Amino acid sequence: MPLNLEELKNNIAEVLTNLDPLLLVGISILLFVLLYFFMKRLQQKPLAAAGSSRELLEKVLDSSDESVLVLSSSYHVVYLNSLMIKLLGVKPHFTSEQICQSMKIKVKKKWLRLGELIDSELVRSEKKLYSLERTQLRIQEKGTIPANMHIIKNTQMGDEWKYIVTLQDLRYEEKCKVLEHHHNVTKLPNQNQALEDLNLLFAKTHLIKGKIVFIAVEIDNFLKLRSLLGYEQSTKIIIKLANYLVSRSEKYAFSVYHMYSNEFLLVMTDVADPQVALNFVEELQTELKKFYKMQDVRMYLTASVGVSIYPDSGNTRNLLDNAYKALSEAQSQGHGQVHIFMPEQARFVFDELTLYNEMHLALENNEFELYYQPLMDAKTQEVVSAEALIRWIHPVHGLIPPDAFIPIMEKTGFIIEVGKYILNEVLKQQKRWEIFKFKQIPVSINVSMVEIENGNFFDQVERKLAESQIDPKFITFEVTEGKAMESEKSTLNEFHKLHKLGVRIALDDFGTGYTSFSYIKKFPADVLKIDRSFMEHILVKHEDQRIVQGVIELAHNLEMQVVVEGVENQQVVDLMASYGCDYLQGYHFSKPLPSFEFQKLLR
Ligand code: C2E
Ligand code: CA
Ligand code: CA
Repeated sequence: MPLNLEELKNNIAEVLTNLDPLLLVGISILLFVLLYFFMKRLQQKPLAAAGSSRELLEKVLDSSDESVLVLSSSYHVVYLNSLMIKLLGVKPHFTSEQICQSMKIKVKKKWLRLGELIDSELVRSEKKLYSLERTQLRIQEKGTIPANMHIIKNTQMGDEWKYIVTLQDLRYEEKCKVLEHHHNVTKLPNQNQALEDLNLLFAKTHLIKGKIVFIAVEIDNFLKLRSLLGYEQSTKIIIKLANYLVSRSEKYAFSVYHMYSNEFLLVMTDVADPQVALNFVEELQTELKKFYKMQDVRMYLTASVGVSIYPDSGNTRNLLDNAYKALSEAQSQGHGQVHIFMPEQARFVFDELTLYNEMHLALENNEFELYYQPLMDAKTQEVVSAEALIRWIHPVHGLIPPDAFIPIMEKTGFIIEVGKYILNEVLKQQKRWEIFKFKQIPVSINVSMVEIENGNFFDQVERKLAESQIDPKFITFEVTEGKAMESEKSTLNEFHKLHKLGVRIALDDFGTGYTSFSYIKKFPADVLKIDRSFMEHILVKHEDQRIVQGVIELAHNLEMQVVVEGVENQQVVDLMASYGCDYLQGYHFSKPLPSFEFQKLLR
């Protein structure tokens, strides 16, 4: 059948207008470029002189950088361009059956022959185009080839040029990708791969119970070593170190990345005790000292090590930078040193006065950040609310826990300023979740009695709620049991006013004070939070079991809901559910998380 150019052009244009815009880019570039050159050549030569127009089209398709195959409606091969001939390894006297039989395409985990694929996707449907991005081809069972594939059904040109199959061989691209993601000397995943993997890791931090530890390792004095030993020998050192790290990666459960020339990053993702990481670092230092011996020279190597730990060193966004900051700090202390970005609090004595002086600036510099910890429904184990917990991400000391600075803030009254900031932040966060259609949940804010006793707490809350247009039922204020109970009549009145406004009140750390239930009746609390110290030995201490059971029962009699804090394992979950406790909070479900990590739980 003679080829009608105008029809072919219209036909392709029609298919293209129905395409996904992204696909359009690929296909339209190819086909329109081809057609453009084809038409141009036709304009230059009269048709008769151009020989058969099909021959010409074939010539144009031959110069395409994609492999093209044209099939008739009965799957006879009408045309193959030279790239396709090469790709398929077709012998001169091929038969159409051989091609359609020998080419298999992976579709949703199944291998289909080309004919079967066209049958199922284009013959039995109205579709005019079928595309597969990043699929696999198998030709004559000779291994697989990564490729993009498009098949166009040509409806206006009769049966001969019926299916145009284009293939884009991605082997070169994938090879480049492998090179791009691996270090050329050690073939280990490099910094590009690290960044990709870390993004994935951070997306699921809420599923990880333990800590995340980053260890940045750099051989000291490497440039000097290189100038001394030469490129080849110094590269051998790098390879030897790489092999050593890989050999230890299973025991210590870390991934190894070769970031830059003499720099490695080790990532541990679910660490119960960061001491394990430090044990490894010690082992590494010992190993380095003995590990390079040239004929008669012994090289004593050292490496500087920077460690950052999530969540102790701050949130995941800064984890990599913090590991490098720690590395640079270690290097500044001399060779073979280890520095941990956020030393555990025990090793760190915060100076009260310095902290007090610094907290004013910290508020201005946005160094305070709210973390959110989910509260789960004890029956359905769904996230039903969250507690906002403040963190101070100090530029030098890293993450400072609230116990280190809240008491200073209370003592100095600065908590009143910070309390306003916290309420504002929570309301802003609620608004964002509302706008972006996250599940709307109540958020608890811890308030100190200093804030309530200040006198205008209620007025402020009322004003802020009105300004932000947040329903008061989405805010809970938590006050510590003992302190709340000591409060004067006037303060009790503040709580009653807040309660009337519609915000909820929770009695925190219940069980640490000595409040009688008869007094609690006068206090307008909706929620009672049993202190986490009760959970520590609940599975073995019958006395604690009886107390908790009794508290839950009494609270329910007073129409209060009960939260238990500090739930760290499934046995406690089951026990508390059996006691009829309403909500559960604890590391078993999630640690407190930065808002952008927490909100993944609300999707
Ligand atoms: P809290 O109100 O009793 O907060 C619960 C504490 O228990 C949090 O410590 C939380 O991280 C921790 N926690 C949660 N689940 C578990 C668990 O399963 N096991 C264990 N061992 N601990 C768990 P965090 O965040 O260090 O807060 C300590 C205290 O600092 C809070 O105790 C609260 O009294 C105070 N605080 C925190 N944020 C604020 C705030 O924004 N304002 C005020 N005024 N006080 C705050
Ligand atoms: Ca609390
Ligand atoms: Ca508590």
